[in-house]
Amino acid sequence: MKIRFYDTKEKKKTFFKPINSKDIKFYVCGPTVYERAHIGNARPAVVFDVLFRFLRQVFGKTCVTYVRNFTDIDDKINKQARDTGRSITSITDETIEWYKQDMNQLNVLEPTESPRATEYIDAMIRQIKILLNKKNAYLDDAGHVLFSVRSFPDYGLLSNRKLEEMVSGSRVAVSENKSDPLDFVLWKPSEVEDPGWDSPWGRGRPGWHIECSAMIDELIGKAFDIHGGGIDLVFPHHENEIAQSCCAYPTSGFANIWMHNGFLQIEGEKMSKSLGNFLTVQDLISSGLTGEVIRMVLMSTHYRQPLDWTHQRVAECSKILSKWRGLCAGTVASERPSPTILKALADDLNTPKAFAELHALAAAENFSDLLASAQFLGLLEQDFHDVEHKKRRLDEIDRHKIEAIINKRSAAKKTKDFTKADLIRKKMEAVGILINDQSDKTQWSLSPNFDQKKLKDL
Ligand SMILES: [Zn+2]
Repeated sequence: MKIRFYDTKEKKKTFFKPINSKDIKFYVCGPTVYERAHIGNARPAVVFDVLFRFLRQVFGKTCVTYVRNFTDIDDKINKQARDTGRSITSITDETIEWYKQDMNQLNVLEPTESPRATEYIDAMIRQIKILLNKKNAYLDDAGHVLFSVRSFPDYGLLSNRKLEEMVSGSRVAVSENKSDPLDFVLWKPSEVEDPGWDSPWGRGRPGWHIECSAMIDELIGKAFDIHGGGIDLVFPHHENEIAQSCCAYPTSGFANIWMHNGFLQIEGEKMSKSLGNFLTVQDLISSGLTGEVIRMVLMSTHYRQPLDWTHQRVAECSKILSKWRGLCAGTVASERPSPTILKALADDLNTPKAFAELHALAAAENFSDLLASAQFLGLLEQDFHDVEHKKRRLDEIDRHKIEAIINKRSAAKKTKDFTKADLIRKKMEAVGILINDQSDKTQWSLSPNFDQKKLKDL
């Protein structure tokens, strides 16, 4: 099968030739974990889940390694910890758990590896040492290690920028002692109250970009097939990853193909907290949407295009899924998805075309292929059905019971008994009831592993 993906670096669709078709490797930059995932975060998770499913289908389940990291060290997390008086670990642990639950609701498969950046500090220090030795990095008077952008002639090739046009965009605070404003931080000293690790440059913490370079090197090596992420990461994050890795290991090549998903907007507007249109996955689930509908909306626009999240689109996808579900009732799925679907995805993951092919299967009354193909795309699966079914089955007594437990937890929170509140939340999660705290109220929803029998004993 001829597969083509759009390569950001080449600025065109290019044939996908795996380095080793028995061992395909790809990496996607994952979330920084300090708050609930919004649907903008969910888009790359779904897009690269489609890529994962497609590659597994074509090359074999055991032949694809997909790594998506968690950035669990970041100044935003430190700020959250200071603002709330909570420990960093409790914030990052909780947020990672939320993220996994939310993505599970969207039927996003677990990547092969989901490393946490803080588990790879040694690898980061090793790579920074190499960059210092090669004079691609330097230590400034304030104890920062900085990457010297002008030491890498190819800097700017991915994002198609000239050095002169660039501005420094590093996420960590910039040092005053840079020899060039383009240079970015590899390592910075930590204040006593900030998290830090011992290093040859004193107690400190890594810059964001070196995290990915080091995890990639440790987990999938110096040359690999695909690097993915949101379009907003092209500059400076991915440009900096390339600079670090290609300077540390000049003959390696790093990523062969760079794939980036487009932005997401809401009803034609940028999503932002200040505009009041900030949607988390959990908000949507709590409002009664199924993960399946959210997933279909996220797949309904080609991944490179901007995606407009609208009420109308949600209603359309919901209607289509109900129709397909009705048509496939009692059908046994074919063993594999229809070749027409795979062909659509082989052309730069063309999911709108794949949906057109699903409609064609429905029109041709080929329900076995329709079901297998939809399930291959992560839709019409049994779990979703179960969730809807369980939700309908919940009687008034159950609802009353859930609300009563939530009230008990709110009361504990009011008296600042957070241990009790946390315990109640954990007990509810064990039953499969997910809690979403908002500023004025607490919402709840059921996860696919909700167990009604356990609720009776709660
Ligand atoms: Zn990254």
